[in-house]
Amino acid sequence: MKLVLLGGPGAGKGTQAVVLREHFGIVHISTGEVLREARSAGTELGKKAAGYMDAGKLLPDDIILGIVRDKLAMPEMDRGFLFDGFPRTIPQAEGLEKMLDELGKSLDAVISIEVPDDLVITRLLRRAEIEGRPDDNRETIENRLKVYYEQTAPLKTFYEKRGLLKSVDGTGTVDDVFVRVKAVLGQ
Ligand code: ADP
Repeated sequence: MKLVLLGGPGAGKGTQAVVLREHFGIVHISTGEVLREARSAGTELGKKAAGYMDAGKLLPDDIILGIVRDKLAMPEMDRGFLFDGFPRTIPQAEGLEKMLDELGKSLDAVISIEVPDDLVITRLLRRAEIEGRPDDNRETIENRLKVYYEQTAPLKTFYEKRGLLKSVDGTGTVDDVFVRVKAVLGQ
């Protein structure tokens, strides 16, 4: 199974990704997680990412595509994979399509998890208290939402045109959402 999970901040992509990874036994790749790890390891990538992340801005597409290229080269990707938080712009989606083409692979589905903004803000402010992620403050959250609508939401049309888009209601419990995701995947 080769999947992309789309959704705004706080849509619950990361949570569903973990459940889907276990269910299908596939590799889960979160570009946000790769960047957070690079930050805590203090690498050059991490230092560069920090400013963008704390402002709720996207990193340049070439940096993200470089990370994804390395991940796609890993042998375990043959088990299937799930991208969470990538692609986030049209150039990233085009870059992914090209890399997959070169590998003779293609996506099975793109799942868009839909959650209303007011619920997203409540969820992210709660996560800020629990996990203390530095980009979960009100100002950054609002910026991430704006960036999502401007740059990431257009990907729904991009994937709809390719017949890959499956929209899922992201409200309710983790299991409620998982049942809906499985249903759109015909499971
Ligand atoms: P969320 O979905 O809650 O915003 P992520 O963990 O996916 O969280 O991303 C956190 C931050 O990392 C983003 O706000 C952005 O700065 C950066 N980032 C992650 N993935 C990408 C990507 N595909 N393109 C550009 N920036 C990214």
